[in-house]
Amino acid sequence: MTVAEERIERLTALAEAAARDGEYGRSREYVRLARRIAERNRLRLPRDLVRFTCDACNTYLIPGRNARVRLQDGHVVVTCDCGAQARYPYH
Ligand SMILES: [Zn+2]
Repeated sequence: MTVAEERIERLTALAEAAARDGEYGRSREYVRLARRIAERNRLRLPRDLVRFTCDACNTYLIPGRNARVRLQDGHVVVTCDCGAQARYPYH
């Protein structure tokens, strides 16, 4: 694993921990940093970070806490508290 990958993993864990503590502002900063590092190093974001962050507001999403998750037509629909929705195919 490269240094950049390690930093991204660490930031993902920090973003999740901050969101669990209700520190959404701090959580967003970690998510933004992780995304920036990934872009700069042309790395793919970890699956967790893609699935559990809001594209609109960068908040790390915790279902039942600051996000709602529903199953609809073979998709998982995640709704952030900010109102943005993301859909993923469900396997
Ligand atoms: Zn959002």
